[in-house]
Amino acid sequence: MSFDYDLFVIGGGSGGVRAARVAAAEGAKVALAEEDRYGGTCVIRGCVPKKLMVFASEYSGMVEDAQSYGWDIQPGAFNWDAFKGKLHAELDRLEGIYRNILKNNGVESFDQRAKLADAHTVELADGTKKTAKHILIATGGRPVWPDLPGAELGISSNEIFHLEKLPESILIVGGGYIASEFAGIMNGLGVKTTQYYRGAQILRGFDDEARGLVSEEMCQRGVDVKLGTNVLEMRKEGDKIWVKATNGDEQLFDKVMFATGRSPNSDNLGLEALGIELGRKGEILVDDYSQTKVPSVYAIGDVTDRVNLTPVAIREGMAFVETVFKGNPTKPDHELIPTAIFTQPEMGTIGLSEEDAREQEPIEVYATSFKPMQQAFAGRSERVLMKLIVSQATRKVLGCHIVAPGAGEMIQLAGIAVKMGATKEDFDRTVAVHPTMSEELVTMKAPVRTG
Ligand code: NDP
Repeated sequence: MSFDYDLFVIGGGSGGVRAARVAAAEGAKVALAEEDRYGGTCVIRGCVPKKLMVFASEYSGMVEDAQSYGWDIQPGAFNWDAFKGKLHAELDRLEGIYRNILKNNGVESFDQRAKLADAHTVELADGTKKTAKHILIATGGRPVWPDLPGAELGISSNEIFHLEKLPESILIVGGGYIASEFAGIMNGLGVKTTQYYRGAQILRGFDDEARGLVSEEMCQRGVDVKLGTNVLEMRKEGDKIWVKATNGDEQLFDKVMFATGRSPNSDNLGLEALGIELGRKGEILVDDYSQTKVPSVYAIGDVTDRVNLTPVAIREGMAFVETVFKGNPTKPDHELIPTAIFTQPEMGTIGLSEEDAREQEPIEVYATSFKPMQQAFAGRSERVLMKLIVSQATRKVLGCHIVAPGAGEMIQLAGIAVKMGATKEDFDRTVAVHPTMSEELVTMKAPVRTG
């Protein structure tokens, strides 16, 4: 049987574009459909604009620090319009790069929505049908709104990059990556920032000591982190939004942003009719090779809700191409993934938290928390954390947790050692780079806790 294409990819985000490009480079005839902008969540409304906003927000503190170092400079006002214009020009540039990657590799792209008509047929929004030997779904995810009166007055992380003007006050709801990162960004940009989290501590699932320090430092820097608190109801009051909280607080905010989780984009793709199974959250269920119950259909990235990170989606896309187009069955590796949360201060982490490791086996905990030289000299009281979780039996480092400026950069490198199975003694054998913050990772002598 002959098909129009060897591969049809639905979704032009990080995972889909990578799979399309690499398959095409292998000589496959490839098409890709994207209903929105190329580059997906990461490039258009996620990691990239978020990180640029983190950079923008960090300059406020830098001016004061520079004064402490003898510079005669005065802080000025942040100009949202100037920044926003540059930000969106940069995103346009990056989208162009993504489109060119496809074009230059001979991938045919369709700027419209696509869904599955049968196991080998994709139907485009204009009614055109295309057949393909393999179909890859890489449609990502979207923010979910909580179900409460007035929730429609809030925005999500999708809209935060398009604000007409910077609000004077904002309420951020949620305690995950997105909520905690944007609390830091808004606070740094001079917005009076409140964060509601329904649980006992933000960043659930990460090492307790690390997330405790992030939360404490966020409060120190001015974010009003309200734990054990959620929104009960909201309504419009003049130009503002009136919010009633579960603890009885009533407050007015200029903006309310929900960062209360994300949901897989698996609706109206024709999946159920084909017998493709979905999980409880609507995620596409796949095997270790990203294959669905329909052998010609694969899925990667956030729509499968495995580990929702851009570099993981890219790895899943590469493993798919390796398996299907290179005859080399390859499972994406979801073990020991380093990750950074761009809170202020940043957290970098790989492996098990102290709590999870202790459940698994007897451990030693090495940790040090101190005031780093650069900030201490500037008169700041902020602390950083360097922490290793070590297996008593194998001496392997099971987890590494860093809370510090630049923790994302540090964990990428420490992550190589941990991924290689380095022991505490391997860390100890490594000479310290002095004076740095991360040298503490190789100079911690005695465990602070065992058991
Ligand atoms: P998360 O799932 O990480 O966090 C959702 C948060 O919202 C949790 O704190 C959750 O609370 C809370 N929540 C859920 N439902 C409600 C509700 N009805 N009312 C109040 N609070 C609620 O989602 P995010 O949206 O923050 O991020 C999505 C994913 O995107 C992350 O898991 C991550 O994989 C990825 N990401 C990665 C980044 C990075 O690498 N730096 C940056 C941003 C996103 P509870 O804990 O109680 O469930």
